[in-house]
Amino acid sequence: MISAYFILASSLKHRDRAAIISSLTHMRDAYKDEGQRGLEREAAVQISRQGKDAHVIRLLSRDGRKLLEMRTATWNGFNLNRAVPIVPPKTLRWTVIPGIRDEQVMELASRRLSNGDILQVGNSDAAREDVLERFRWILAAIFLPAILLGFIGGFFIARRALRPVRDLIQTLEAVKSGAIGARAPDRPASGELAELAGIFNTMMERIESLVRGMKSALDNVAHDLRTPMTRLRAIAELPLRSEPGVFDYREVLADCVEESDNVLAMLDTLMDISEAETGTMTLKLESVDMHELLGQAVEAYRYAAEEKGIRINADDAAANVRVLCDRGRMRRVVANLLDNAVKYTPAGGLITVDVAEKNGFAIFRVSDTGIGIPADDLPKIWDRLYRGGTSRSQRGLGLGLSLVKAIVDAHGGDVSVASTSGSGSCFTLRLKITS
Ligand code: ADP
Repeated sequence: MISAYFILASSLKHRDRAAIISSLTHMRDAYKDEGQRGLEREAAVQISRQGKDAHVIRLLSRDGRKLLEMRTATWNGFNLNRAVPIVPPKTLRWTVIPGIRDEQVMELASRRLSNGDILQVGNSDAAREDVLERFRWILAAIFLPAILLGFIGGFFIARRALRPVRDLIQTLEAVKSGAIGARAPDRPASGELAELAGIFNTMMERIESLVRGMKSALDNVAHDLRTPMTRLRAIAELPLRSEPGVFDYREVLADCVEESDNVLAMLDTLMDISEAETGTMTLKLESVDMHELLGQAVEAYRYAAEEKGIRINADDAAANVRVLCDRGRMRRVVANLLDNAVKYTPAGGLITVDVAEKNGFAIFRVSDTGIGIPADDLPKIWDRLYRGGTSRSQRGLGLGLSLVKAIVDAHGGDVSVASTSGSGSCFTLRLKITS
């Protein structure tokens, strides 16, 4: 629209100047034919034809004296005495003369005649300005409402589009002031900002569950350490309160060291379980052959089993069943299951270890012909520090199976048990195989 205005202004100016030039040529021809009289006559004809809109016609001597001036009352608003330009021969010189009172201007074309006099024809830009002013009004009438509408529309669109950001800021303020449960409202919007709010909420869920997990882990560790620490204190306190010579201090110190080792082992395992349960455990995942892992674990426990008169059979384990897992941690899982099987199976028993592949899963089994688990105890054996009634005579912290479950869960697998009290147990691990 703006460029249309400038094109119109320029073409109107071009048209006005062309009319002035044509009039100048006509007057020059009249002067050439009949001298000043011819010029006067043609100017008079023009005035009679065009009335007040007729061009100004002037003839100046070479030294600038006015020889002839034909003009209507329209031109009284211009001081033409100032319009004596230097005009080289055969050149058209344009002079712009400002109006005395209003903003009109006159465009005056000057040309030197063959005798050295100067012929001038001029016209004002009033008519052109009229047209342009009308055009400017039309432009304003169209543009101003359009711009206003654009601003109002833009304001509302931006407000609506930025609503998720405002929500997010409010939620962040709430989180900053301690409300960790604050979430960005779930609005039925789409686009990147709504996606950002969704990601923020998921992230906050995760942070909240980590904080909750860490807090409960700390509470549990503090609670679980109380018993062994009290025991340790009692071992050290009793000889201190007794008469010298009643207790052998070396023996007491050895008990303290053993109890401290238990506490440290317990602390390590508790931390591992908490890490696995809260999802903060870093797993070094690699493709591991379960058959190979199982072989190493069996070798490690074969001696302890033979000592007790227990046989371990791993002959049916399938070769090359690969699982994406943390080798070190999976070794601990297998070792814990085997350790329990050896612990809770009396002499003459049999432990069978087996690996198989089924429907895209690696199935790993450790079964024994041991004491079994009473049905009432079955759901509790996975709890931290739970020890079955018949297990008290065996060494243990009651953390082995909790660790097994936490690690297997962290790998996205599952572990289950089937057991009959008095005739044996079978623990089954299920992990996705590496494709
Ligand atoms: P613990 O240190 O007592 O072995 P675990 O967490 O490894 O702790 O096991 C929890 C309980 O589950 C044990 O105390 C025991 O009662 C029971 N249990 C685990 N494995 C076996 C098994 N193979 N046979 C019988 N009972 C078992």
